[in-house]
Amino acid sequence: MIIRNNVSVKHLNSFGIDQVVERLIEIQDESDLHYLDLNEDYLVLGGGSNILLTKKVNRPLVLMRNLGREILIEKEDSVLVKIGAGEIWHEVVMWAVNERFGGIENLALIPGRSGAAPMQNIGAYGVEIKDVLHTVYAFDKASGTRVAFHNSECDFAYRMSNFKTIWKDRYVITQIVLSLTKPGYHKINTSYGAIKSELEKKGIDTPNIKHVADTVVDIRKAKLPDPQVIGNAGSFFKNPIIDAEQYNELSTRYPDIVAYPSGQQYKLAAGWLIDQCGWRGYASDKQTGTYKNQALVIVNYGKAKGQDILTFSQEVQKSVKEKFGVSLEPEVNIW
Ligand code: FAD
Ligand code: NAP
Repeated sequence: MIIRNNVSVKHLNSFGIDQVVERLIEIQDESDLHYLDLNEDYLVLGGGSNILLTKKVNRPLVLMRNLGREILIEKEDSVLVKIGAGEIWHEVVMWAVNERFGGIENLALIPGRSGAAPMQNIGAYGVEIKDVLHTVYAFDKASGTRVAFHNSECDFAYRMSNFKTIWKDRYVITQIVLSLTKPGYHKINTSYGAIKSELEKKGIDTPNIKHVADTVVDIRKAKLPDPQVIGNAGSFFKNPIIDAEQYNELSTRYPDIVAYPSGQQYKLAAGWLIDQCGWRGYASDKQTGTYKNQALVIVNYGKAKGQDILTFSQEVQKSVKEKFGVSLEPEVNIW
């Protein structure tokens, strides 16, 4: 465990919001958590790529940096691997691909650490971590004990889990166990977004997991802003899910609306709604706005404060509500 005092968090959150925290506790081994004072409140962070700091962090910041990639059980068709919460998620994806373990290749280049992945059930290109997540190990701040949750106990849904709702702030995720496929049993998923057309451009008709991961990396690099260059936390809002009646009404008014069936309902592309309100590429005098290639990504052009970004996000919500009658809900954790 490393403890530092009066540390700037500018490089610890992908929006690049600057402030100084009085105490920063870097967890390098799960056992370090037992030294925490359980009567104290903490803010736990991985890579800081899904948080907007709008006010002073008036409690110690716990940074999860415990590593580890362990094969627990290997069968003919699958393998169970235990990953430390502090492992960089993208490095885990590329490690799995190199080991020829399948199931997370579509989740390449998502920023952040592995321990945060179950929080919002990270997803991209038609795959969510819940599809491969076996168990989540966590430290219970209330009792100081180690607990394990099977996938079925976490109530995973679209960008959602119990860790973000009823269990919020109670558990520190320490490891995740993934169930990955072995060669001959991979389920290649190229049906989503631009993956198929990109593979076609590369002349690949029977892609393997490495082709998929590399293609996702290429698409993401071309489309999304690099937080090292422009502060952002990816999609600021969730894609709203609306009922069929509202969808029919909207698609009559806006025949180009981008929507996908989601059970009996419809998922609207929030980026399209924001774009239609004229916000794509916008830059305010407070140095906030939306990214030129994807209006769903709210950015910090450099000097925006957390509160400026929050206020701007509320303007976006208001205009989408006025034009389409649709409410946008933040996906980013607002502190
Ligand atoms: P943090 O921002 O550090 O934390 C997020 C939340 O989880 C906070 O509330 C924090 O308190 C809590 N937390 C973090 N670690 C732990 C832990 N070990 N135990 C308990 N609580 C914890 N997300 C997607 O789902 N799909 C995408 O495709 C995607 N693309 C992105 C692209 C860009 C350019 C960016 C900047 C972000 C993107 N995101 C995406 C959002 C983000 O990368 C993910 O949600 C990621 O899992 C966050 O990881 P993190 O370690 O940075 O979490
Ligand atoms: P995109 O491909 O331009 O698609 C726009 C939206 O349409 C996406 O949000 C996606 O929903 C939905 N979509 C596309 N194809 C679909 C299909 N075949 N079936 C159902 N829904 C479909 O999106 P993008 O911005 O470039 O992002 C690509 C992927 O990376 C998406 O899965 C997106 O979620 C993910 N991503 C997430 C974040 C984040 O911070 N959460 C940031 C960047 C990218 P879904 O979002 O539900 O997948």
